[in-house]
This record gives sequence, C-alpha cells and structure tokens, in this order.
Amino acid sequence: MPLRETRDAALRATVARLAASHPFYRDFWSQVDLSRVRGIDDLPLLPLTTKAMFTADPEAFRLEPDGSPERQLWDVAYTSGSTSAPAPIYQSAYDFHAILFAQVRMAEIRGMRGDDRIANLYPLTPQPHGAWTRANHAAAVLGATVVCGMSGASPWFDVTRRLPEVADLLVATRPTVLWGVPSYVRRVVDEVIRRGGTLPDVRMLAISGEAVTPAMAAQLAELLAAAGAPQVVISNSLGASELQYGLVECVAGAGFHNPVPELLHLDAVDEDGLPVPPGSPGAFVMTHLGRQGTVLVRYLLGDRVEVDHGPCPHCGRLGGRVVAHHGRSSRSLKIKGQLVDTTVLESTVAAVPGVADHRSVVRLRDLHDPLSGDELVVQVAPLPSFSADRVVEAVKLATRVTPAVEVTTADSLFPPDERMKPRRFVDERSESR
Ligand SMILES: [Zn+2]
Repeated sequence: MPLRETRDAALRATVARLAASHPFYRDFWSQVDLSRVRGIDDLPLLPLTTKAMFTADPEAFRLEPDGSPERQLWDVAYTSGSTSAPAPIYQSAYDFHAILFAQVRMAEIRGMRGDDRIANLYPLTPQPHGAWTRANHAAAVLGATVVCGMSGASPWFDVTRRLPEVADLLVATRPTVLWGVPSYVRRVVDEVIRRGGTLPDVRMLAISGEAVTPAMAAQLAELLAAAGAPQVVISNSLGASELQYGLVECVAGAGFHNPVPELLHLDAVDEDGLPVPPGSPGAFVMTHLGRQGTVLVRYLLGDRVEVDHGPCPHCGRLGGRVVAHHGRSSRSLKIKGQLVDTTVLESTVAAVPGVADHRSVVRLRDLHDPLSGDELVVQVAPLPSFSADRVVEAVKLATRVTPAVEVTTADSLFPPDERMKPRRFVDERSESR
C-alpha cells in the first residue's frame, strides 16, 4: 500500500479507537463529526491538544485496556518536567515493539550500525525516562554492544558512577558511538583527556536534549580529535518523551526526519490550527498513528518549527522533516530593564570560544533589598582559551545587558543529582520574591 493510504488508514483506525475507549478524546471530540476525518488532510477538523491539557490529567490520555495483547501495559516513562510536573507516558506492548522498530529506522537514517559499540551516556534518573532506557533498547534491537556510563543519582542505592569512573570505563571499552546530552558528552571526553586516556574508535556522537549550534559542534569535534578520534560525525536529534524515540538527520543540516511516517504525523500549524505554507514557521504538532497506550492527537509540543513534507533532497525519505527549529516558544523576561530572550542568551554564551559549559543567573544585586536592581551573572566553566571579555562583549551585543562573569567548574554548574538536562538559566528573583 502506498505510504499515503497506509497513513490515512492508520489515522481512521486511531480515531475509531480513541472515540470508543480514550477517556479524554471521547469527551473532547463529542461535538466533532468524526466520519469526516478520512485521512491526514482532514486532521484540522480535530481541535489541538495542549501540553496543559495532557499534564492536568495524563491518566485520561491512556486507552482503556480491552484485554488484547496490543494494549497490555509494557512500561512507563515520564516527561522530563522542565516546565511542568513530570507526566507518565504509558507504553503498551504494541507501543514498545513500535519503539524498537522506530529505533531501527533512526539508526538507518543516521548511520548507526549493528557492529557499533555504543556508550550510553544518559544519566540514570529517579523516575523512568526515555533517554537512558531507549538507548539500551536501541542497542538491543540493532545487535550492537552497549556500555552504560551510569551517571546521575539514585536516591536509594549506590548504583551510579562518578565522572572519573565513567571516563575510565570508556577508555577500557573503546566505544564507537557516544550517545547522550552534548554538555555531558563534552565533560566525559574532557575528563578522558585530563586523565591521559584516548577514545580512538569513536566515529559518532549521537546527541539530543540541547540545541547544538555549528560552533558547538565544531568544538565537540575538536575535543574528540584531541582524544584521538579525528573523524567524528555529530548526529543531532530531536527527541520527545511523548514519542520515546527521536527525529534524526541523514546528514548534518538535512533536517530532522520522522523515522516512522506510518506511526507518526508531524506538522507546523498557525494559530487556527491550519498547516502553515511550506517554508513558514508554525507551532509544532504531532499525531500518534496507531499507539495503544498513551495516545496524543494534534498535540502541541511547545516548539516553533518549519516542517517540509517533500522528499529529503539527500536520502529521498518521505514522512516530514523538521527543517528549522526555532526553539521552545521563546521565553522573554526583563533583565536590568531590557527584554531578554533567554534562548538567545543561552546560545550566545554557548557559542563564545573557550566556554566549555555555562549557566546564566539573574539575581538582585542585594538579596535583602528588593529595590537594589538586577544583576546578570554568567557562570562559565572555562577551556584554556577562555576570555571573560569575549563573553561580556557577546552578551552585550546580543541582549544589550552587560553581565558579570564568574569562573567556576562544570561540576559545580551541574551537580550529579541535576535533572536530565542542565538548567542553563536561573531567575533567582522569582525564587526570592
Ligand atoms: Zn534525508
């Protein structure tokens, strides 16, 4: 069956299943004539689902069990909770097998192979999270070898490793792929070099969780070269807990491919929920086609993106690619009287040469005096080439705010019990007021 017909049929089956046994959509769609939803093109007939709707009652987004093997509970993962309380995503048996299938496709697209030795550098988290878990599952289904760094923290048992132990483990096991959050991957490679080790077999950095600018990618490649791996592909991806897999690039800059068009539809929409014309940014929406545990339809992921539905000019794949990512719906706030976009601030600091890691903090100049005025402090873990003046100039140019710069260590920026992703911006005013 051609892809288009497969997807239309999958959507019709999904709508029928949800109307019968999905507590949220059964209600939410009560005024919609569902017989008119014949295929993907009819999706705008269905209202958008926001993250707030989902997190308010995640249990209502789970299909009611019907005794079938497809809906048998397999596992649960939680969203990472950077903006709201972590919400559970239920995987049925069908969903779990679909995730394995998606991981095979992701590997095909990005060039990960069965003969790879993967170092899973995602942290162990107190709540189940899709990053650490699915990297192991990916290795299982690819037939690849995997070794887990086991950073992170357990509130109950001594089962995690400190940075020097992770570095030694990598040197001993000679991985070909380092898979993790870029800021942590960089810390580990730094530590390997500091301890006099090498990683001569690394050929790919599979990274997700943070935006990586070309300047950051170049820095990572340089660092790997210093660790004895001169030919490294930086394979970026765009993941979401609501998927339990990620969108990946076939070559750098080709856009993030939907690896499983038969199981997932992506779009960029305007304020009325209509797909925006090609080449225009819109709100990122996704629709599960076929999931049987937690199911989301026309779900706003909270990013602004451009989606291209044509074949990829590099690999010819169809199914939708995110060709431009404009970040999270941007967050602006007043610092020293200037309106500052925190995502711009973050990417500006990250791109300054000599900055290994960073965090920006806004606080009152005098903690006990609410009228003392704001202060922007950029905390930096430096490389040898670091210059505080360059940070000051770059931030001033990008935000019109002159920051103070504090030199610190990567460890103090992101203690091991920090969540999945480091917090790169902290507003202490809102925490003290
Ligand atoms: Zn491609």
